[in-house]
Amino acid sequence: MAGTEKQTFSKEELKKRLTPIQYHVTQEKGTERAFTGKYNKMKESGTYSCIVCGEDLFSSETKFDSGCGWPAFNNVLDQGKVKLTKDTSHGMVRTEVTCAKCGAHLGHVFNDGPKPTYKRFCINSASLDFRPDAPSGED
Ligand code: FE
Repeated sequence: MAGTEKQTFSKEELKKRLTPIQYHVTQEKGTERAFTGKYNKMKESGTYSCIVCGEDLFSSETKFDSGCGWPAFNNVLDQGKVKLTKDTSHGMVRTEVTCAKCGAHLGHVFNDGPKPTYKRFCINSASLDFRPDAPSGED
């Protein structure tokens, strides 16, 4: 599967390492309240990785302001990095997005995004860590 090795973490370790909202979202398929996530309005250049396993998942280059209250991306860094699953909870039919490596819940993907993919990966800030690009001229 695209070279993605699975990784599992113990509940105890994650409870210690993650904040309560990070744990709730990633491990219990929770959703942070709209407009409360720390990356909702983030516009800096960099890479967003999984808060649980550290795998790089999204680039700021595909991030856009969807107005929905959560970070939105037009694409994934690499299709193999996320797993898409049909989710019929809460009386809706949605597509859940999870980290292919560790299974962390990230959010959902919708087909109402902008060009070129028309996808809107609606991702909880609590599932992500952000690493800014190195300033140009440095590596
Ligand atoms: Fe992960």
